[in-house]
Amino acid sequence: MKSPDDAPALLAWYVEAGADEAIGEVPVNRYHKPPRLPESQPAAPQSRSPAAPPHKPKFSAAAGASLSTAEGVEQSAREIAAGAGDLEALRSALSNFDGCALRDTATTLVFADGNPHADVMIIGEAPGADEDRQGRPFVGLAGQLLDRMLGAIDLDRSSVYISNILPWRPPGNRKPTPNEVTICLPFLRRHIQLSDPKILVLVGGTSAQALLGVTQGITRLRGRWHDYPGDAKPIPAMPIFHSAYLLRKPGMKREAWRDLREIRHKLDTLTSQ
Ligand code: URA
Repeated sequence: MKSPDDAPALLAWYVEAGADEAIGEVPVNRYHKPPRLPESQPAAPQSRSPAAPPHKPKFSAAAGASLSTAEGVEQSAREIAAGAGDLEALRSALSNFDGCALRDTATTLVFADGNPHADVMIIGEAPGADEDRQGRPFVGLAGQLLDRMLGAIDLDRSSVYISNILPWRPPGNRKPTPNEVTICLPFLRRHIQLSDPKILVLVGGTSAQALLGVTQGITRLRGRWHDYPGDAKPIPAMPIFHSAYLLRKPGMKREAWRDLREIRHKLDTLTSQ
């Protein structure tokens, strides 16, 4: 682009070529080659916490965080989340939080859907394109299958509460990065605390790994109860296959059905006590 006047033509060219969203804030010069060091000069050691990170995360100064590292952003997220006294305050704190760059590329905050007083809280991975447009979790094809799965055990959006690990859509539906998960997790932990469900259903590996603090894949984690550390006592958490995965691998629905029946059974037991 030679001058700013060329920008509309360049944008039109991108749209014609099929690009329909921006996935970064800063252009990347992929032709740029870093200068090579002379052979004799040892390479500079890789610092784990560089003094001046290339991307300095922004976040609300309201929480008093002065650190510019990922840990600083996480700490700020924890303080802000802890300060939210109810779900409305948490939603508003999250929509004002600028420590996660996904907020800049997403259309809307996808906070939650369903009944916040429900016994069952369902946690997915992150909003997709449909969720980003509508501002509600699990409304696309995977969400429609999730609704049918819930219906099979007599649950629906009036009897469950649904949220995600990330409240903003990762561009192009890519997997959340560990950093994004770390930064957004304090808000979700507070979300769970405020909603106080009897059971957690963790939809997919990202959700299960993030909330249980484990690295095993969903195939190993699903089908048995895990303890999510709640306030007074652990909350039983059941990881299940993601409904988007079941759309691609319908043969795995048999296992999913077993897990759903186990969830129904646990719910009946807990609510009859
Ligand atoms: N997949 C998810 O994990 N969450 C959504 O909200 C939609 C699809």
